[in-house]
Amino acid sequence: MALHYDLHSHSTASDGTLSPAGLVQAAHTAGVNVLALTDHDTTDGIAEAGALAGRLGLQLVAGVEISVSWQSLTVHILGLNIDRDCGALQEGLLGLRAFRDWRAEEIARRLEKSGIGGAYAGACALTQGRIVSRTHFAHYLVGAGHAASVREVFKRFLVHGKPGYVAGQWASLEDALDWIRRAGGLAVIAHPARYRLTATKLRRLMGEFRELGGAGIEVVSGSHSHDNINTMAMYARREGLLASRGSDYHGPENPWVRLGELAELPAGCRPIWESEAWPLH
Ligand code: AMP
Ligand code: MN
Ligand code: MN
Ligand code: MN
Repeated sequence: MALHYDLHSHSTASDGTLSPAGLVQAAHTAGVNVLALTDHDTTDGIAEAGALAGRLGLQLVAGVEISVSWQSLTVHILGLNIDRDCGALQEGLLGLRAFRDWRAEEIARRLEKSGIGGAYAGACALTQGRIVSRTHFAHYLVGAGHAASVREVFKRFLVHGKPGYVAGQWASLEDALDWIRRAGGLAVIAHPARYRLTATKLRRLMGEFRELGGAGIEVVSGSHSHDNINTMAMYARREGLLASRGSDYHGPENPWVRLGELAELPAGCRPIWESEAWPLH
């Protein structure tokens, strides 16, 4: 029987709502055989997740989702099968978390100016790990009655042109790929259809990424439509990139993304887990 691969997920170490062990348990129950934990800008959850995965017979892939600024956009790059003890990687992630800390205060200052107080303390109180994300702000603002849903908070407060928006100053594509390479991992462009890039710009991103040693793109993602999947499968083939598959699961609160229910990669893609560079087959 084919293994069920899910190579993108989040725990409470970043902005997921299940603990690392809770996530591994839920994935195992849902029939996932190989799970990558890819928290935003931290690898803190991997030890706990790996310990339970070992007991359950689930393969845990050590991963990370690195925030990158590319041509005034924020792009997410996954590092899969990374060595957590790599100094260059950890130093890089530390810098990104420092920016997150500054940004959190800045988001709160801006919200304050539009009449919403207490957001910094409120968001920080919801973090369980070392990163504070816009998701934490969203949960706080929903809880405080400023919006009905997380989605609404993003739309009204946290995206470009809205009162709590702060431009990202993340890693360069070059740095992110360097850290992943030094940590012995494979780099994958996360949810490429989410950036709403023109075909020209998307191909430029993929071209630069490949030149810098990038391995693959997420063809199947929890946030991709069937059309997105087919388009990204075509790009992967055309650009000579491997295909990855991940739910981007953040917890049971989001009913749109469920563990164990990801679509298969379309025929003609080269799955990243079948490449020679993938450690376990
Ligand atoms: P950050 O990395 O702190 O800027 O936050 C980005 C995270 O916010 C993403 O990884 C998603 O989990 C979440 N996110 C971004 N946009 C939306 C949205 N429109 N609705 C809900 N969650 C979102
Ligand atoms: Mn997230
Ligand atoms: Mn992402
Ligand atoms: Mn993600």
